[in-house]
Amino acid sequence: MAVDSGLPSPMSPLACERDAKALQLIEEMTRNPGAVQERVLGEILSRNAETEYLRRYGISGGTDRNTFKARVPVVTYEDLKPEIQRIANGDRSPIFSSHPISEFLTSSGTSAGERKLMPTIHEELDRRQLLYSLLMPVMNLYVPGLDKGKGLYFLFVKAETKTPGGLVARPVLTSYYNSDHFKTRPYDPYNVYTSPNAAILCPDSFQSMYAQMLCGLLARHQVLRVGAVFASGLLRAIRFLQLNWPQLAHDIRNGTLNPRITDLSIQDCMHEVLKADPDLADFICKECEGENWDRIITRIWPNTKYLDVIVTGAMAQYIPTLDYYSGGLPLACTMYASSECYFGLNLKPMSKPSEVSYTIMPNMAYFEFIPLSESAPALSHDSPPRLVDLADVEVGKEYELVITTYAGLCRYQVGDILRVTGFHNSAPQFEFVRRKNVLLSIDSDKTDEAELQKAIENASVLLREFDTSVVEYTSYADTEMIPGHYVIFWELMVRDPANSPSRDMLDRCCLAMEESLNSVYRQGRVADNSIGPLEIRVVKNGTFEELMDYALSRGASINQYKVPRCVNFTPIMELLDSRVTSVHFSPALPHWTPERRR
Ligand code: AMP
Repeated sequence: MAVDSGLPSPMSPLACERDAKALQLIEEMTRNPGAVQERVLGEILSRNAETEYLRRYGISGGTDRNTFKARVPVVTYEDLKPEIQRIANGDRSPIFSSHPISEFLTSSGTSAGERKLMPTIHEELDRRQLLYSLLMPVMNLYVPGLDKGKGLYFLFVKAETKTPGGLVARPVLTSYYNSDHFKTRPYDPYNVYTSPNAAILCPDSFQSMYAQMLCGLLARHQVLRVGAVFASGLLRAIRFLQLNWPQLAHDIRNGTLNPRITDLSIQDCMHEVLKADPDLADFICKECEGENWDRIITRIWPNTKYLDVIVTGAMAQYIPTLDYYSGGLPLACTMYASSECYFGLNLKPMSKPSEVSYTIMPNMAYFEFIPLSESAPALSHDSPPRLVDLADVEVGKEYELVITTYAGLCRYQVGDILRVTGFHNSAPQFEFVRRKNVLLSIDSDKTDEAELQKAIENASVLLREFDTSVVEYTSYADTEMIPGHYVIFWELMVRDPANSPSRDMLDRCCLAMEESLNSVYRQGRVADNSIGPLEIRVVKNGTFEELMDYALSRGASINQYKVPRCVNFTPIMELLDSRVTSVHFSPALPHWTPERRR
């Protein structure tokens, strides 16, 4: 069993007092996670004892852990939806939390096609900041000299809305970047970004990206690390450079700003930094004009030591592309977090993506784990599952994460499946295995089987006038090109070959599918340009039978065979692709506005 006791000694004398304190906190929290968890649960229950939710289950401030576990059910978002809707509609009574709900965080997980709304309290910002404050002290143990330059991070805010009751609803990072915790952060030589706040906080994604890229190019020799939150975001930035380098070089050559940048705050700060630099403009043209974008990151930012992006979970699909653009620079996955709660960090941020483990910090929330084989009964209220505490999980086993937070979520199933890989002191470390029920994902979108099925049904309505139906389908997330896109394979039954569906109609089926997909998908298509047009590939009749024959030849049972609704195994994709008779792309953008549909 892998047990780390204590963090490695720093390579250089500790950067500062603050680093020492952060590392000491990690040590304290991980030495006796059981005791920390006991304290955290006690704090949560006593502060929220008077809430409607805890009172419903007879929980009071002094309730012990076993009684809490015996009385409070394990829940999903759907179980809490009525209460969440009341808060959204303006009910200010203490339903989940004794502290006022400050805003809603809109997760990338959806319910009925819309982002889930997570009520949060102001104080959670401190907890998020605390976790962020641990990242650089850990990184400094492995990579020296990060105070000698800057970080080129592509960070973005997204659209905000208001609920009927007047609370703001926005993604957790949009909330964080707009907070004083971020905006008025004190100067820290280890956290100097090339992107000015004005560029990060501009809600127009083109202007924001343009300004961030321009600043990154201007400071190219100072950049020591390049990052984004997720791998898909960094690749989007590279794609942006591919499309916009001529204009960026033009601005740098002349010291003038692209007229498309109309945001006044961005204009102000670009005015400060943008000076005519023909040599730099020549250099950018020389590097970008060819077809060869191999190692473009290290060519433009030659002092980059690592890429700071999450490449675990659904993002693993981007590792080869990142390796191509960076010449195999280390990929640092530093933290594991969600709208509901920030969970923990990677104490060995330079480890290979396949070996990344996150240490859940026991002071962030109260954590429980459903052993994977028992997760199905979790949904049944008759037979409560046996949940394991953070300190009691076992190496090698897989669990679903359940959280009880200061903001008032109680025994809430996050939907993430984790595997225990070892311990740091006595705190378990987890590999992120997968998100439950996600079939397709390109960026932060998460499409499940039911959503895909519904989208197919809605699109196939268009085929009725051709007396045609979709008899089988499967899908995959094509990330070969940036942005990636969904590919759906269709086998059709055309009853009258003289009246088969027109090309135009099949193109429109692509759009009809997109219209049916959830709002995170449509936002990616419309506002973020992080997902490309959906593609339908029509395959020959009998293809899905061949797929079954193939599975049976590899040992599948004929009784239990089910068509896989998502494929990524090369021989199967090759089989499908070799049977394609026509290819169709969505001809337009689906509908999306920040407002929720319901
Ligand atoms: P959201 O609530 O939209 O912020 O999404 C949070 C979800 O993103 C988590 O529950 C995970 O499924 C996923 N996620 C966050 N951090 C990581 C990570 N480091 N590795 C893999 N998946 C992650």
